[in-house]
Amino acid sequence: MANLSDYKNIWVFIESEHGKVKNVGYELLSVARKLADEKKCGLIAVVLGKNVEKAAKDAICYGADSAILVDSDEYEEFSTDAYAAALTELVEKYKPEAFMIGATHNGRDVGPRVACRLQTGLTADCTDISIDEDTGVIVWTRPTFGGNLMANIMCPDHRPQMGTVRPGVFKKNPYDESRTGEIIKEEIHFAKDKIRTRLIDRVEEIAGGVALDEAEIIVSGGRGVGSAENFAIIEELAKVLGGVVGCSRAVVDAGWMPQVHQVGQSGKTVAPKLYFAIGISGAIQHLAGISASDTVIAINKDPDAPIFSVADYGIVGNLNEIVPELTKAFAAR
Ligand code: FAD
Repeated sequence: MANLSDYKNIWVFIESEHGKVKNVGYELLSVARKLADEKKCGLIAVVLGKNVEKAAKDAICYGADSAILVDSDEYEEFSTDAYAAALTELVEKYKPEAFMIGATHNGRDVGPRVACRLQTGLTADCTDISIDEDTGVIVWTRPTFGGNLMANIMCPDHRPQMGTVRPGVFKKNPYDESRTGEIIKEEIHFAKDKIRTRLIDRVEEIAGGVALDEAEIIVSGGRGVGSAENFAIIEELAKVLGGVVGCSRAVVDAGWMPQVHQVGQSGKTVAPKLYFAIGISGAIQHLAGISASDTVIAINKDPDAPIFSVADYGIVGNLNEIVPELTKAFAAR
């Protein structure tokens, strides 16, 4: 068993691809900053990629005390083998107490592999992180039993304590340009012939659009929209507002929209400034994906629909009448 007292500081993985940083890393720095202050330990961003020195500086402006930077050709494109090897090597060298990774496709891939190589535990797909007052151990919270229960999971006997955390759950701290910190440059090279996967093609999730988890305005439709054709009224409102179209799972199951638009527990967790829930009842699995939204506006013909209990503004009525009127009113502004 590891000597637990050798392990110090909280790490956050800053994921990027082709130099473009995913927001979730910076979001995690905000919760990690709070935990690091509580534990009185350092907060270190781990930045891996190509041409990502700016991301290391930005991570410090978003709350990290310092950053470890591995910047080289091998990491321009995500590769499970190279990323898992590099992160494992860094953990073995520096021994962090906790390591947080965004639950993106790549984060979900690499996180468990690193944990396995280090013979430690990992809690996947968390929606909250805190510290157990009595033991100082990190408490990783994640939905279970179809989102009906929240499980609190701890890893008391192994280090680092690892978890993947859903994008959109935490808000980034304000960008503070006055923050300074050391950027430690590490050289870790991985022979190309050891990489067992090959990238054949890249397909953008939503052609020409913004991904749901990065969107500031989302207009989501549910079963109440009635048909694939009628989704045109949702798309028009989204277009006028410069937003992205989302939907409930019922809509995906009915084949009205592709799964990439689904919001909720088995879809995307989102954190827009403005979220429209139109013809969506507000099932717990849908609400699990929208809790970090700043403002929720619900439109539903049923005044008792559960969505109204989480909405900041609610309109009771027929969406087929209300949505085109809203679109007209916003277009006129
Ligand atoms: P409904 O519940 O059928 O609601 C339709 C609403 O539209 C009603 O409130 C109705 O009053 C209103 N309406 C109807 N006509 C009109 C009209 N003309 N004008 C105004 N309002 C109207 N769901 C998700 O959304 N995302 C997930 O990620 C997700 N994951 C799940 C994971 C698991 C393991 C399980 C078991 C379920 C999951 N679900 C998820 C499904 C979830 O339980 C609900 O079934 C689903 O969210 C319902 O979608 P809905 O609100 O569009 O449909």
